[in-house]
Amino acid sequence: MNVDLHSHSTASDGALPPADLVRRAAAHGVEMLALTDHDRLDGLAEARTAARQSGIRFIEGVEVSVTWRGQSVHVLGLGIDPFDPALQAALAALRSSRFERAQRMAAQLAAAGIRDCLEGALRYARDPACVGRLHFAHHLVAAGAAVDTRAAFRRFLRPGKPGYVAVHGAALADAVRWIGGAGGRAALAHPARYALSAGALRTLLEDFRAAGGQGLEVVSGSHSSGDCSRFTALALRHGFAATRGSDFHGPGGGAEPGALPALDPALLPIWSDWLP
Ligand code: MN
Ligand code: MN
Ligand code: MN
Repeated sequence: MNVDLHSHSTASDGALPPADLVRRAAAHGVEMLALTDHDRLDGLAEARTAARQSGIRFIEGVEVSVTWRGQSVHVLGLGIDPFDPALQAALAALRSSRFERAQRMAAQLAAAGIRDCLEGALRYARDPACVGRLHFAHHLVAAGAAVDTRAAFRRFLRPGKPGYVAVHGAALADAVRWIGGAGGRAALAHPARYALSAGALRTLLEDFRAAGGQGLEVVSGSHSSGDCSRFTALALRHGFAATRGSDFHGPGGGAEPGALPALDPALLPIWSDWLP
């Protein structure tokens, strides 16, 4: 079965509206899909309807922004109840802190001589609560302050640069608790993407497990085959179920929905008891 439990729509930073995303996934042979927008549940209703029309199984999801020991980490909530009031309130608070961060980034860039960056960045963000560094980067390129978005990050948006403000995400244990409270399963997203030593990674996995985290995204659109092997071994060693997700954000930007290697058969798929 082709399962893809990580994708984004225009409800956060994806390029496609939820219904288009679902149709694209179905056309690519995905049979079970989760929409996991950053800190938002708004795209789920449209995606759910489209999945019913396309005849694919839909899993309600979210990707929660977490700060763990000063490091930004993403936790997937899979199979959540999108109407859970505590989860909705927690995500709303996270989103407002994201907008406050954008205001601070713009103030720092203004102090460095580049004015009106918040207005500029907001032109690229469909929702003000989702505005982030990539939107600032697009504006800095359009304003002629950088040749491309990579240069914008290098010169303005990295730690130590004038526009950098750290994200303050949720505490790891809180994110896992909100997801569990809404009936979902928490899985650590794209674990190879974090710049952690082997020891720090082990501590993260232990903390996540102790908090009630159940899964590890072993197969991700951003993982090399070496990463997949490494996290297969870590999932088995730490007793995590495994998940598989493209982290699709839009056409031309990495793996298409469902276009990923299969999970190693030794792993327990996080969706094993969701099959029809
Ligand atoms: Mn994203
Ligand atoms: Mn992520
Ligand atoms: Mn993602």
